[in-house]
Amino acid sequence: MKVPATARENRCSSSRSVSSAQQWCCAPAYWLHHSLVVSVHYFTVDVEEYFHVSAFESIVSPNDWDRYPSRVSVGVERLLELLARHDARGTFFVLGWLANRRPEIVRAIAAAGHEIASHGWSHQRVTQLCRSRFRTDIRRAKQTLEDVAGAPVLGYRAPSFSITHANDWALDVLVEEGYRYDSSLFPITRSGYGYAGGGTDVHWINLPSGRLLEAPPATLGVGNFRVPAAGGAYFRLFPFAVVRAAFRDYDRRAQRGTFYLHPWELDAHQPRLSVPWWTRIRHYGGITRADTRLQKLLGEFRFAPISSSPELQ
Ligand SMILES: [Zn+2]
Repeated sequence: MKVPATARENRCSSSRSVSSAQQWCCAPAYWLHHSLVVSVHYFTVDVEEYFHVSAFESIVSPNDWDRYPSRVSVGVERLLELLARHDARGTFFVLGWLANRRPEIVRAIAAAGHEIASHGWSHQRVTQLCRSRFRTDIRRAKQTLEDVAGAPVLGYRAPSFSITHANDWALDVLVEEGYRYDSSLFPITRSGYGYAGGGTDVHWINLPSGRLLEAPPATLGVGNFRVPAAGGAYFRLFPFAVVRAAFRDYDRRAQRGTFYLHPWELDAHQPRLSVPWWTRIRHYGGITRADTRLQKLLGEFRFAPISSSPELQ
């Protein structure tokens, strides 16, 4: 199925000076010092344990998840601290399995003023699921997260950005299950995931079941290529200048970029699993500098939750 995506004009309709998260939370951009337009970008976190990552699926069975020591609170506490220090708010896509076992973490995130959204239940990639199993997975996660957080869950992010052109029927299922936005379509070409040719800015997707707002992970256009610059391993392994250039470009165009990170990326003391060298680089590479880089990013750019998007008001 081909999904027609229509880009939507989302420049700020009014210029104003603001000083707090509450004031700019619904504005896609604002004027700084009456001269420079600065966008309010989206800060997102995929809340999962280090042993949930898809790169470990060949050595960590979901049946054994309960046997691994939980470390998620280390990264979450640090994220909440840094976001508060920089007066930033974000969207936390929480794994349903984790919310069921650690509801106090979900409540702490919500109590700090952040949005709770869904990372599905089982962390199975959408490419591995049929339509009905995907529906069960996202429905269960949404219900659990809403029960725990006491607020509607509007958004979804697929494990490993695994909604591709081959399975974008999943977008229809999201609308049918009451989700209003998605942040899974990474507009790059990569083995295993990526939505090459997809919109690079926040946009509406018109579907048979309705319309869905898409907040794609940030990329940087370099010639004819889209360089992934949204966070995760790209944030830890690429020069910081790549991420900075991407978000400055969003600022320049008065568009909103979407950044992402995982709690385990701020936990240098997580248990080390025995994995092939390429997985080791992808998961552990640059983990000791992620904290410093994150502080730099939060100091240079403004961030809010995706639910604050004017399109969703
Ligand atoms: Zn994940």
